[in-house]
Amino acid sequence: MRNPTRSSPQLYIAIVHWIGEEIRSGRLGTGEQLPTERQLCEQFSVSRTVVREALSQLKSEELISTYQGKGAFVAKRTERHGFRIDQAPCDGETSIKHVLELLMAIEVAATRLAAMRRTSEDVKKMGQALDGMEGAIFDESLGDGADHQFHKAVLVAAGNPHFKALSEYLDHGIRRLIRDARINTAEKFSDEIQLVQDEHRAIFLAILAGDPSAAADAASRHLSNSGERLRMVHATKVVQR
Ligand SMILES: [Zn+2]
Repeated sequence: MRNPTRSSPQLYIAIVHWIGEEIRSGRLGTGEQLPTERQLCEQFSVSRTVVREALSQLKSEELISTYQGKGAFVAKRTERHGFRIDQAPCDGETSIKHVLELLMAIEVAATRLAAMRRTSEDVKKMGQALDGMEGAIFDESLGDGADHQFHKAVLVAAGNPHFKALSEYLDHGIRRLIRDARINTAEKFSDEIQLVQDEHRAIFLAILAGDPSAAADAASRHLSNSGERLRMVHATKVVQR
């Protein structure tokens, strides 16, 4: 039985593809209103969570704009980017592995640069995010927002605007991954949440110390451990089915 509060990647990707095609083909023109959330739920037989996930992805690709209480509309034709993280639907485990490999390449390089270029403002932002995650452990909330803030602060600290631009473009995929990772850790590896925090702290301390290779190592360790935790969860899920 599917948990109705969690969205299936395949389902939301189907909606993203369909609406994306409607817009790209011109069947839905600039400024035109999209079907309502309720209509989309009925058309695709999915929950509102799945529809919202799809709309949020389309928004991050700048294909649509949403207005509180009015609905979603086709965005003005801006220059459309050629890269999308959810382009190829594939099974959950392969998909996570691929996103992680890409993230690993970006994060390790950015963390190395961050150790060389961080400003006091960067250090302050990372420290705040770290405190946010510490607080989440204390009150047993997910802390995915703070986790995301932390990695974003590291990318900014790399002092290269292209890392920041790429991460903003990948934002939706990264947020999903971080949320999934933290949900999985909270559900299946609750005793490991402190280890996750230690991994973040190691990244922070290496950046603070201005040690590029220790920073790169710490980032690499955090992402490969995250990958391991996620793969273990997926393996368990398959057995349970
Ligand atoms: Zn993290």
